[in-house]
Amino acid sequence: SKRARLDRFLSGQLNISRKDVRLLLAQGRVQLDQQVATSIQQPVDEYTHVQFDDQVLQANSPSYIQLHKPQGVVSATKDEKHKTVIDLLPSGCADNLHIVGRLDFNSTGLLLLTNDGRWSRRLNSPEQPIKKRYRVTLDKPISQALITAFAQGIYFAYENVITKPATLNSLTSHSAEVILVEGRYHQIKRMFGHFNITVLSLHRDSVGSLMLDEDLLPGQSRDLSMQEVQGIF
Ligand code: URA
Repeated sequence: SKRARLDRFLSGQLNISRKDVRLLLAQGRVQLDQQVATSIQQPVDEYTHVQFDDQVLQANSPSYIQLHKPQGVVSATKDEKHKTVIDLLPSGCADNLHIVGRLDFNSTGLLLLTNDGRWSRRLNSPEQPIKKRYRVTLDKPISQALITAFAQGIYFAYENVITKPATLNSLTSHSAEVILVEGRYHQIKRMFGHFNITVLSLHRDSVGSLMLDEDLLPGQSRDLSMQEVQGIF
């Protein structure tokens, strides 16, 4: 998310003057994304591959992963007791990833991970709400009053907020689809809990336009395509 000009980047990295940076460029010794750099004004962001002679100064590539989260793993990068979602990823791809929207220990479904802070901030931005769809099973039947309450918002005393309008579509007497535009701590369980209903299972099947890949078994993951990354909004 940090953008800099090439001259500032190189003078900082190599501890040289801007004038010396010009010299290195004139000598053709600097490459940006495998192309010889020609101007001190070229932009460098955190994912630009920067090389000086044989020395790689920066090589971060953005990664975007969807994981089919299974039950019984923690949506965190570290945990003392339990397996985390990071432990499920192929080794080597877990470098500085963060989770975009957590799922509880026993919840399943679509979990997104990235090292691109700009993308995850946009996904969580309240200005441009993204719909997240869940399937739930419940210990009691769903009433029309409940559907209305979800649409109007439910008061959460701890945070002193009213939840944003949510959609509750019943599928069978004890199962439903829930669509949220926010993600508060244990939000769905607490919304049903307000009416003394226990959520028996909770599965997220989409975030924005992105659906959980049906070919992924619980615990499996894959990279998102650029189309998926950009089209999710
Ligand atoms: N709401 C919950 O209560 N749990 C989740 O995992 C996601 C939404």
